Amino acid sequence: MCMCHGIYHPDHDIVPSRYVTRVGEIEVIVLSDGAIPVPAAGLGTNIEPEERDAALRGHFLPDIVDWGLNVIVVRSGGRTILIDSGVGEEMPESTRTGRLALRLKAAGIAIGSITDVIITHIHMDHIGGLLDERLRSEMRPDVRVHVSHTDIDFFGAPDFSNNTFGGLQEIIRSSSRHFLDAYQSELHPFDKEFQVAPGVVVTRTGGHTPGHSVVRISSQGQRLTFAGDALVPLGVECPEWQNAFDHEPEEATRVRVSLLKEAAATGELFMASHLSFPALGRVAVNGNAFRYVPATWGY
Ligand SMILES: [Zn+2]
Repeated sequence: MCMCHGIYHPDHDIVPSRYVTRVGEIEVIVLSDGAIPVPAAGLGTNIEPEERDAALRGHFLPDIVDWGLNVIVVRSGGRTILIDSGVGEEMPESTRTGRLALRLKAAGIAIGSITDVIITHIHMDHIGGLLDERLRSEMRPDVRVHVSHTDIDFFGAPDFSNNTFGGLQEIIRSSSRHFLDAYQSELHPFDKEFQVAPGVVVTRTGGHTPGHSVVRISSQGQRLTFAGDALVPLGVECPEWQNAFDHEPEEATRVRVSLLKEAAATGELFMASHLSFPALGRVAVNGNAFRYVPATWGY
């Protein structure tokens, strides 16, 4: 008998962390690989600490913020598409990650049914799940892994001289090398934009990483944008905040504001990798102020 009362037991989840919705004819399943604790000092690096701390307290956020590791699976046109993969076991001190294989199975999604993977960018908290042997060993040999040429080129020989990355440079470097080696023959690089399946388009934005990309899902007049790391916690409320994980902070801000304006104008569903699960919401705007409005759950 299992005496474990935690939600991170290796064999089962008390909180299964999955949510299912539809965008027109396209099925969207939101899963989580877990969560990683991120010091708030990595947020708002261009903001006075007092102002940053006041904003954090105003949003009931502690000094160390849990970042969710949201992943989605999309079914369209006979293809099953995994978008990002969480951190897996790439951060050994994190005990609350590496849940993706378990949660895919719990959601009834066979790893061998995945025809395509879209990687928004080659950071360990987006590629790490693919390096987990439980996933890697069950992946079909003809899976197509879509990632921008720009990120493949950059992470082939990354230059981190302008960034601190909260001291994570070596993990970012070793994970990206591991990924590029392990998936060399499955990589399906795109330049600016690629339609992976009907209504599922990946578009390079740059900013967070040189080849960072977002995924737009559209069907029957409905839309959802998966914004990857174009914004992180407090990114809707404080879009001018730079963070320690942006490779090109000023460009990242331009990308973020542009995506927020687009989401506010369309009223589309909008989600990002590290917002609170299931991270499905809309962006409202009042003057220059954006506000995140969680989507109504469909029970
Ligand atoms: Zn990330």
